[in-house]
Amino acid sequence: MALVNIHFLNLQNNYLFADIAKKVNAFKVMHPKADVISLGIGDVTQPLAPAVIEAMHKAAHEMGTSKGFRGYGPEQGYDFLREAILKNDFLPRGVHLNIDEIFINDGAKSDTGNFQELLHWDNFIGVTDPIYPVYIDSNVMIGRCGTYRDGRWTNVRYLPTTAENGFVPELPKGRPVDVIYLCYPNNPTGTVITKPELRKWVNYALKNDALILYDAAYAAYIRDPEIPRSIYEIRGARKCAVEFHSFSKTAGFTGVRCGYTVVPKEVSVSTFEGERISLNQLWLRRQCTKFNGTSYISQRAAEAIYTPEGKQQIQQTIDYYMDNAHRMLTKLRQLGYEVYGGENAPYIWMRTPDSMGSWQFFEALLYGANVVCTPGVGFGPSGEGYVRFTAFGSHELTEEALTRIENWTKSH
Ligand code: PLP
Repeated sequence: MALVNIHFLNLQNNYLFADIAKKVNAFKVMHPKADVISLGIGDVTQPLAPAVIEAMHKAAHEMGTSKGFRGYGPEQGYDFLREAILKNDFLPRGVHLNIDEIFINDGAKSDTGNFQELLHWDNFIGVTDPIYPVYIDSNVMIGRCGTYRDGRWTNVRYLPTTAENGFVPELPKGRPVDVIYLCYPNNPTGTVITKPELRKWVNYALKNDALILYDAAYAAYIRDPEIPRSIYEIRGARKCAVEFHSFSKTAGFTGVRCGYTVVPKEVSVSTFEGERISLNQLWLRRQCTKFNGTSYISQRAAEAIYTPEGKQQIQQTIDYYMDNAHRMLTKLRQLGYEVYGGENAPYIWMRTPDSMGSWQFFEALLYGANVVCTPGVGFGPSGEGYVRFTAFGSHELTEEALTRIENWTKSH
């Protein structure tokens, strides 16, 4: 008899964006003429950079020749891309990594979800709250999170990041956590972490022999030169942190699929007997078994974003989105809303007025202004009383959405 992995049955049925879609569809059925603008889902909208398209054409053409054809590539990714990453994303910030510490992935979702497989099932995990839901759900699938009660998993340490603590999570008190998920710039709050604050986490991990899984998917949006773009800018992080990057929001690769994971050779975890095991070796072993590499065309496309033209073109698109973020922050503040993020990240995190619940505000905005936001509680219990807006729309639709929000706000 084939038995199911019962941990999958513990997953909560409500996938946030499916719930939102259901509510928006119900609204559209009742109001067929309404034209709804979504500032909800975090997908990008602007086309790929010309340098990327050119590289993809070239790679596709190569694949059609007997000389240029490539079959399975290296599981860790092609050296041309790994070298470009080292040279452009790390060296200029004084971070020296080896090429075999870089693993090309097909997007950060897979690796942020899969990496926990290398860790014993009863490690105690800590997450900042609210957070990108993949971290918790992937741990639920392996039975690490306990049971779900009142909107929380019993074996997860939630570290609230809210306006009350300036969106700076406190270090865990009491039982130390073994694995900590940090995401900066943060989805959903759009806030960032300073070097001194990040140093506290690295020191905590070193002291408690904990592992930090650091998601830097939005690093390209950091404008303040003092804010770290990588955890390896902090001394000691090479011993305790794995870092995930994505080209999805950096260069519009949500449909192309490519990113990378950094697993330094010094980072290790323990067996019960105290033997140290290198995660770099273990991850390589895992990838060689379960992953056959990101497509050659996607990797050539990613390489193109590191050329002078590519850099300039992707920066233009990032600036375009950040211009939206600026407009949103300015307008929402003018209207008297309490808003955060949006300065070094493409997300705006807004406290709902009059202590409304996240879903209650979501519905009010949908019905009142025909604008979709994302209810903050969908990202964790501390997200209750907030909503997220994304800056990934076009200027025109963002402006139109803001005008609607203004009219709606002033009308009641
Ligand atoms: N990490 C965070 C924090 C995200 O918000 C997202 C996507 O929204 C991802 C990872 C996944 O990105 P990718 O498209 O590279 O899988």
